[in-house]
Amino acid sequence: MIYLDCNASAPISDQVMEAVGHAMRTTGNPSSVHSDGRAARALVEGARGAVAQMVGAAAQNVIFTSGATEANNLAISGSGRKRVVVSPVEHPSVLQARSETEMLAVDENGVVIPGSLETLLEGSDETALVSVMLANNETGVVQPIADLADIAHRYGAFFHCDAVQAPGRLSFSMSSLRVDMLTLSAHKIGGPRGVGALILAPEVEVDGMIKGGGQERRRRSGTENVGAIVGFGEAAKRISKTLDGATRLRSLRDELELRVLATVPEAIIYGARVNRLPNTSNIGVVGVSAETQVIAMDMAGIAISAGSACSSGKVTSSHVLRAMGLSEVAAQSAIRISLCPETTKSDIDHFLNVWLSHIKAVKDRTKAA
Ligand code: PMP
Repeated sequence: MIYLDCNASAPISDQVMEAVGHAMRTTGNPSSVHSDGRAARALVEGARGAVAQMVGAAAQNVIFTSGATEANNLAISGSGRKRVVVSPVEHPSVLQARSETEMLAVDENGVVIPGSLETLLEGSDETALVSVMLANNETGVVQPIADLADIAHRYGAFFHCDAVQAPGRLSFSMSSLRVDMLTLSAHKIGGPRGVGALILAPEVEVDGMIKGGGQERRRRSGTENVGAIVGFGEAAKRISKTLDGATRLRSLRDELELRVLATVPEAIIYGARVNRLPNTSNIGVVGVSAETQVIAMDMAGIAISAGSACSSGKVTSSHVLRAMGLSEVAAQSAIRISLCPETTKSDIDHFLNVWLSHIKAVKDRTKAA
């Protein structure tokens, strides 16, 4: 299998597997006072330190959750702010965390227009929570987070950033982004699925959504998922190595796009004119169904996705591409290739051979009909 879907979930390294296995074999509850409990606590706290270090935060401000979906919900529900301002290209876990949100405007590349934040915030006395992602999971487009956060702070708003897609691909920290809250997910960086974190800047607090035993400094009750948390920490420790490989990925991705455009001149690379993640390519050939492309690639042993990973197996057109002004047909014709740290040139060559012949076959059939 050639796996080109790392924005959906990244492979786990042997070292991460080993660390998870070791943690799963320890018995104690991290809240127990006996030595087994203390050993489990030490594992959780080691991982907390590694995750905090990855984004330049203080360890006590890392709240482990069941993933980024929960972290995004916690940021929005737990902020105590009645007004929530989001961009239309956010992940559904931000868009749907509240029934009523106010929408920022994005341009044709999906980049938030800073003036639209200014307009929304100056129009009300009620302080808001603003939530904008660092890098889009479908297009890789990077948002001007520090500038947006500065605007938000001028109006007394809190700023939350979903940075799930950024570690190992962009160099950043909580303070370089100037955000109050940051969301991460382990399985996008080579850790296990089902664990993530909400990270707070100093002096920022959230009201926990899950009440009970008071774990995670009362911000998220429930016995910690020790194995998954340890895997998250182990993946975080390896992030600088992944970041070192980002330049190689960018040239592989750029070469892929050049060859696509040379052979299929009508292909469009969405977001290509602005700052993007180095591993992501969103390619549309209008009128050629993305769903059919994904199935054809899968049958040839290549994993890619149509826009975002479809939830519950249902492919709907991408809200991100629609917000960028694409028609329904164009949005349903876009595929996402997301390279992994392990992706090689021969993976890309193989993908291009299979994909280009698929596109040619579809076009020939359309012509013949
Ligand atoms: N935010 C973004 C930008 C994502 O790409 C994803 C995963 N598709 C999530 C949030 C949700 O992450 P998790 O799977 O950890 O709940």
